Amino acid sequence: LTQPQKCQGLHVVHIAAEMAPVAKVGGLGDVVSGLSKALQRKGHLVEIVLPKYDCLQDDHISDLKILDVAMESYFDGQLFRNKIWVGIVEGLPVYFIEPHHPSNFFWRGKVYGEHDDFKRFSFFCRAALELLYQAGKKPDIIHCHDWQTAFVAPLYWDIYANKGFNSARICFTCHNFEYQGTTHVSELSSCGLDIVRLNRPDRMQDNFAHDRINPLKGGIVFSNIVTTVSPTYAQEARTAEGGWGLHGTLNIHSKKFVGILNGIDTDSWNPSTDTFLPAQYSADDLHGKEENKDALRLHLGLSSAQAFKPLVGCITRLVPQKGVHLIRHAIYQTLELGGQFVLLGFSPVAHIQREFEGLANHFKDHPDVRLLLKYDDALSHIIYAASDMFIIPSTFEPCGLTQMIAMRYGSVPIVRRTGGLNDSVFDVDDDSIPQQYKNGFSFWSPNELELNNAMERAFNYYSRTPGNWKKLVKKIMTLDFSWETSAAQYEELYVKAVAKARAATSHV
Ligand code: ADP
Repeated sequence: LTQPQKCQGLHVVHIAAEMAPVAKVGGLGDVVSGLSKALQRKGHLVEIVLPKYDCLQDDHISDLKILDVAMESYFDGQLFRNKIWVGIVEGLPVYFIEPHHPSNFFWRGKVYGEHDDFKRFSFFCRAALELLYQAGKKPDIIHCHDWQTAFVAPLYWDIYANKGFNSARICFTCHNFEYQGTTHVSELSSCGLDIVRLNRPDRMQDNFAHDRINPLKGGIVFSNIVTTVSPTYAQEARTAEGGWGLHGTLNIHSKKFVGILNGIDTDSWNPSTDTFLPAQYSADDLHGKEENKDALRLHLGLSSAQAFKPLVGCITRLVPQKGVHLIRHAIYQTLELGGQFVLLGFSPVAHIQREFEGLANHFKDHPDVRLLLKYDDALSHIIYAASDMFIIPSTFEPCGLTQMIAMRYGSVPIVRRTGGLNDSVFDVDDDSIPQQYKNGFSFWSPNELELNNAMERAFNYYSRTPGNWKKLVKKIMTLDFSWETSAAQYEELYVKAVAKARAATSHV
């Protein structure tokens, strides 16, 4: 196996189901690559282990090759061979595991959403640890993400640490507590975990059903560090309303649990170099922003009769978490207030997709509204650049990236105060907030009245004090949402955990 070059910093291995841009479904993919790149820049050795999906975007992988090793891993009482690929993604070394298993676990045309996801990902976790063990790697930190790779924590401490593979501390990041991967307890033993030992209320047993096992809970219980993606979401997850049944577990383990706000990739999201845009621009020269607005109107057949009309953007997965009823309402409210609205969204939920298809059809010739029900990365860049305001009325939002991207493109966010939105958007009209932090508009309760109020305040600010609006736009474009600050917080947690482990072994 390829041996990493010597490095003064920490050796960190991420084991994950996603990594942008090769295997991205949502924010998790962005975090794995964004955090890894920032840690690498700080001098740490970072490696990543991913499944070898058939749907990998392999044009983003360089030097991809198969390693000449026979790596077998345990599952369902047998050993299965795995083909190990290695390549470079975004400058980072990545191992891809391709199992030789009759169920073709990662040959499904998609990352998630299969009936046997529990098996697919518990197999992957076992194989990933086996790979590190057989390769003789001695990482300081193994960082796993969400329930799909949470199995790493109990597998590491119950099986691999006993074999002497025990150099690492385990960091587990939960990107959304809604998804826990629970299943019948009998499935746990396939990857070699001991049901009798683990199906206990203080270990992996689901908090609601005694015959079910909860991998997300296992990640929390068995990891040395547990993080989530914003400080406010960390607090919310510790309450009965926000913890999806895991608040009790998080409260028991509160000493090792923290929220760290995600960053965004400021290289790919940069209006002054963004090649998707008809016109590039910066905080010092906003002319290009106007040109992008004109270009988008033309492209979508929206009216340009009143150039000054504010354009409200919304780019989102259309799922209940995102406040779809309020997104729908915001379209009508925008018209009421004299603006234009562009939605780019797609729903995996059939009835929501149907509802929005009906709306899109209703507005298809409207001069001021366009709904685009698809996933389109290039168009998303243009909408961020063209819009004056950006709406995010989520019912809950672990971190949220779109508010940060919107600000970088000078689109003023209007958000519900929840999770990471509450940690990154500070209301212009809130007197308790120091002037320098004010950067958008927000509301508390997820109802139409409060949304109306926030939108009205934004529209008034835009039309009555255009000079102040322009200052606000320039200010939000220069705010720092890069990974550097967040990566420094992860680094601090890693360093502390490693120091604690070394102190403990030196006392033995
Ligand atoms: P989540 O991970 O819950 O979907 P985030 O705000 O963390 O939400 O991340 C959403 C990311 O996906 C952003 O980069 C956003 O631009 C992108 N995105 C969402 N919907 C679309 C779409 N229909 N087309 C293009 N990009 C999209």
